[in-house]
Amino acid sequence: MAAHQEKKLAEERKHQNMQNDTKTSQGQWGRAWEVDWFSLASILFLLMFAPLIVYYFIMSCAQYQCSLTDPLLDLLTGNKHLSDIWNRTPMLTYRAAAIYSLWVTFQVFLYVSVPDFCHKFLPGYVGGVQEGAVTPAGVVNKYEINGLQAWIITHVLWFANAYCFHFFSPTIIFDNWIPLLWCANILGYAVSTFAMIKGYFFPTNAKDCKITGNFFYDYMMGIEFNPRIGKWFDFKLFFNGRPGIVAWTLINLSFAAKQQELYGEVTNSMILVNVLQGIYVLDFFWNEAWYLKTIDICHDHFGWYLGWGDCVWLPYLYTLQGLYLVYHPVQLRTDHAMGVLMLGLLGYYIFRMTNHQKDLFRRTNGNCKVWGKKPEYIECSYTSVDGTKYYSKLMTSGFWGWARHFNYTGDLMGSLAYCLACGFEHVLPYFYIIYMTILLTHRCIRDEHRCSSKYGKDWKCYTAVVPYRLLPGVF
Ligand code: NDP
Repeated sequence: MAAHQEKKLAEERKHQNMQNDTKTSQGQWGRAWEVDWFSLASILFLLMFAPLIVYYFIMSCAQYQCSLTDPLLDLLTGNKHLSDIWNRTPMLTYRAAAIYSLWVTFQVFLYVSVPDFCHKFLPGYVGGVQEGAVTPAGVVNKYEINGLQAWIITHVLWFANAYCFHFFSPTIIFDNWIPLLWCANILGYAVSTFAMIKGYFFPTNAKDCKITGNFFYDYMMGIEFNPRIGKWFDFKLFFNGRPGIVAWTLINLSFAAKQQELYGEVTNSMILVNVLQGIYVLDFFWNEAWYLKTIDICHDHFGWYLGWGDCVWLPYLYTLQGLYLVYHPVQLRTDHAMGVLMLGLLGYYIFRMTNHQKDLFRRTNGNCKVWGKKPEYIECSYTSVDGTKYYSKLMTSGFWGWARHFNYTGDLMGSLAYCLACGFEHVLPYFYIIYMTILLTHRCIRDEHRCSSKYGKDWKCYTAVVPYRLLPGVF
């Protein structure tokens, strides 16, 4: 009996030690274990106001021709009451629910049931089964990369419908925009809540979970690192890529079709927005395997931030330029249009090349050429939860020698181009560049904090060699 109890106590101690080890080690790498007041305040603010912000923007377009100030003025002067605005807002309809359910089901089907065939005939494209990065618990997940294929199939069907079969109007998305918003919200909240419950009760990999004990923080930032159902349905890859990003280009096409229907022409600004954002979306799918190595997949846990964000924030706020142009069809002067195109393409080039340089460098372990020369780098090391020591390298040449996140700079230039395509009459289309600047600056600081904990003194050496974050000589 005594021997049995002693064995039990020893096992409990071992389990306790394992938990402490996990905590210490993960405290060095990954999402926070403790929540400071500023993070908590920001989270509460976002949980309360992000859905309202989305509603406000979409409602402003539908009821106030995209003016952001008129609804406020109406409310402040007593001209209108909240109930007046709400009563004019379209509610959830059976039609929107059916469209949305069909859309999500179709994307799930393409994701889990159609193995990638694009990599078999597209030279240079990396698809099919690919490995993600090592998680803090030392796990390497496998992913079926078939986003490009899903995007192509979806768009072929869209064009076949628009030009041959005419099952539904290509303006269908615009025509149901607000009822679809309610559907997207239902999915966003449902998936975030499910992810939280799953994280507590049946996580895919318990060692990669983080529970701070603060309900709001855990709900927002997520508990599980890589929640999955079955072997292949990965929540992060699915919700990040589809339905939101596949929908992005369809939404823009629907806005262009609405312009055509309303004014008998599609303006050059609408074409610019469709083309520049189309390049960005296609780039995402062409490089989906690379995406497995980005912060979203490698470091963020899956909670409301990603779940609701991908379902609602992304499709509704990233497409504001196209929506705005339906209400304000802007025909740009040729020099203005060319300037926007050049800025967008230059931004895209910097964004892509910077990401490509890092990807090539990491894939070949530094045995490659960047700008015709062998890349320069700093050797660094880190330790995972199980105590295993890993070695890595941080590149200090190419675009990575100019600034520590020059890929974000390129992204911001591209984002500014979309906004400039809408002219200068209203603030609403410029929300995107304001938001992206805040997002990427915050992301930059968050990433550097994480890298500093992960690499310790090696990170200090790196920042001494590459002192600027986004703009050489400025920030
Ligand atoms: P990065 O692709 O810049 O990845 C950062 C990671 O790269 C670091 O955590 C570190 O990871 C590694 N790293 C950092 N410096 C170096 C270096 N010098 N050499 C080698 N590796 C390095 O960041 P993101 O994942 O945030 O962004 C990917 C792209 O996605 C960006 O271009 C961004 O603009 C875009 N993006 C777009 C968004 C949108 O909403 N439109 C949102 C977010 C991102 P490790 O731990 O492996 O060392």
